[in-house]
Amino acid sequence: MRVLLVEDDKLLAEGIEVALSLDHYVVDSVDTGEHALHALENEQFDLLVLDLGLPGISGYELLTQVRNNKNMTPVLILTARDHIDDKVKGLDLGADDYLLKPFDVAELKARMRALLRRPGGDRTPELVINDLSIDPQAHRVTRASKTISLSPKEFALLHELAMHKGRILSKEQLTTLVYGWSDDPDSNSIEVHIHNLRKKIGAGIVETVRGVGYRIDTQS
Ligand code: CA
Repeated sequence: MRVLLVEDDKLLAEGIEVALSLDHYVVDSVDTGEHALHALENEQFDLLVLDLGLPGISGYELLTQVRNNKNMTPVLILTARDHIDDKVKGLDLGADDYLLKPFDVAELKARMRALLRRPGGDRTPELVINDLSIDPQAHRVTRASKTISLSPKEFALLHELAMHKGRILSKEQLTTLVYGWSDDPDSNSIEVHIHNLRKKIGAGIVETVRGVGYRIDTQS
């Protein structure tokens, strides 16, 4: 699950990043609305966590532009308690939920999970491929009812391939989907993770399309 965090408070942004990455989110962080717009134009995120008080273009302006661009990525706004009216304005402009600062990171995570469960932002139903099932919420994979323990990257790769079932995803696409900007993966890291993933889940699920990429076939 890929999250774009727009927050100009460096310490807070770092804290959120660390907390979310422990829950296996891939978090990319920017400190201005301009950078956020650029990122949203070029890449796909599952959720946008947006501080309203930003230097340069404000969180409101950013939100307005995002929705004007027909980008319906779920948005969770962060706002200071003394700007409580802001939340109403934010929701009017198309935010999906809000959180007042200071907040507990457990609450942030709970709100995020709720947004990701919603239709439109629904990336969390259990995925089933033959006798393999993937529960993104619990981060659990079972095959023939036996639980399989995967590393976060192995899980993310399996989840993305299952979400795009029937489609071939190239190494580059998979890299974009499972790594954030601050990660610096080796050029063969996707191959290594796929290799390990296959060893753990067994044969017949993830197919290599030589020279193109990987796929979970719809026939599987
Ligand atoms: Ca701020």
